[in-house]
Amino acid sequence: MKQQNQKKAKLFGSRKLSFRGIKNFWVPKKHGGVFLKEYKISAISEGTVIDHITPEATFKVIEILNLDKRPDLIISVGNNMSSKQIGKKGIIKISGSFLGADDANKIALIAPNATLNIIKNFKVTEKKQLKIPEKIEGIVKCFNPNCITNVERVPTKFTVTSRDPLKLLCAYCERRMKREDIILL
Ligand SMILES: [Zn+2]
Repeated sequence: MKQQNQKKAKLFGSRKLSFRGIKNFWVPKKHGGVFLKEYKISAISEGTVIDHITPEATFKVIEILNLDKRPDLIISVGNNMSSKQIGKKGIIKISGSFLGADDANKIALIAPNATLNIIKNFKVTEKKQLKIPEKIEGIVKCFNPNCITNVERVPTKFTVTSRDPLKLLCAYCERRMKREDIILL
């Protein structure tokens, strides 16, 4: 197998080759002499692509959109993928489902620099703006353990007092929270 790969590399005389759209990288002999495939998630014909998520936030995005509770959907997730813009990124592709403005708002809370594209017929037909909502209800937990929302079954409610840097104000106990304090419910 190794020999075959070496032959291939000689044949093509290139360090970066592309077969059927999949990029392959030839790792020089002193580092093992093998072909590495660039990790890629296949394109979807219809659905939503959330891209450029900071790797720390990828699984939080899945959580906030309740994608872990949607066994009916085909979802591909990649994390720590190479990105020209941000170095490493997370990407989520949801087949056959189009996310709306509400979902975009939720994503904005934890991954403000992510992009949300609607795909139809393999093409981007819409780029949704991620915008942090003015009020956040029932998504985020209050940071204050004595807050009524943590003691009784009262849904949380926050006012966004600043978007950048993100600052939330609890409607019940008036505790102020920053992005780092955010725990999802
Ligand atoms: Zn509170």
